Amino acid sequence: MALVGIAKLAAAAPLLEEKRRVEYREIATGRWITRCSNPNLPFEWTLNPYRGCEFGCKYCYARYAHEFMELREPEDFERLIFAKAFDARRFAAEIRHLPVGASIAIGTATDPYQPAERRYQLTRRMMQAIASTEGRRFHITTKSDLYPRDLDVLAGAARTNALGIHATVTTMDAELARQLEPLAPRPDLRLAALGAAAGAGLWTSVMASPVLPGLNDSQESLDRVAQAAREAGARWFGAHAVFLRPCASQVMIPFLKAAYPALAPHYERHFSRSTSPGQEFVARVRERVGRARERAGFPEREAMPEAPEGRQMRLPG
Ligand code: SF4
Repeated sequence: MALVGIAKLAAAAPLLEEKRRVEYREIATGRWITRCSNPNLPFEWTLNPYRGCEFGCKYCYARYAHEFMELREPEDFERLIFAKAFDARRFAAEIRHLPVGASIAIGTATDPYQPAERRYQLTRRMMQAIASTEGRRFHITTKSDLYPRDLDVLAGAARTNALGIHATVTTMDAELARQLEPLAPRPDLRLAALGAAAGAGLWTSVMASPVLPGLNDSQESLDRVAQAAREAGARWFGAHAVFLRPCASQVMIPFLKAAYPALAPHYERHFSRSTSPGQEFVARVRERVGRARERAGFPEREAMPEAPEGRQMRLPG
């Protein structure tokens, strides 16, 4: 089959480095920022510095993104990482063409501070360029403990735009976290990083998503994460029930069969029919998360500050 578009670019991408079982490649990109068409999400734009993610979470829904490049083995997503070729001037111009006040989520299909970032510093360079723009709202979602490296740059971006750092901590149980998110830092390390960002005056929150039936859905588990988030200085806590797309089930179900055989039939039966865990589970998670939030002393609603006053009215460009 003749490859076209992004699949052709992926096949021709020059090898940057091969490390253990992971290959890094550079890939050209036309635009860095993508319009998000889902009206249920709290952002209109997404920005992913990399394609693929080495953290390799068993439940990762973003594996489908590699299928666009004709990379169809589920493990390719965590084994073959593409760093997007970067041009700071063009990138800043792209930001300036977004409406003032626009919300941009960084890290919806990859972790922007995954191990590749140590070397390639793409996210750092993007945040430097963002600091030269004004008036938008940026949300970084990460499981990494690397971003304290960039506190100076992040603080610069937060002076001209609104910026939130959302750390994902699904469980405080380090062994369960290692099983579910094999190459991500331990939960305590993620919270220490969040503490450093909060201490530097950045707005931070903790998300315990995804909440997975029988694994991290107990009230006790959610309470532990919420309490630890509070102690680390987070300003908000939240979590959503898991949605398992087929690309994620292909990894999650074999993992459960090996590590949690009693849970596997339930997941297999349910998620072969639907990506949603069902209304009853979603409602139960919402109730437990609300209780955990209240017990830990968080406000009910997320209230990330607006972009700095007086800059919102400037014309983009
Ligand atoms: S950190 Fe996020 S993008 Fe990376 S593997 Fe885990 S869920 Fe997927």
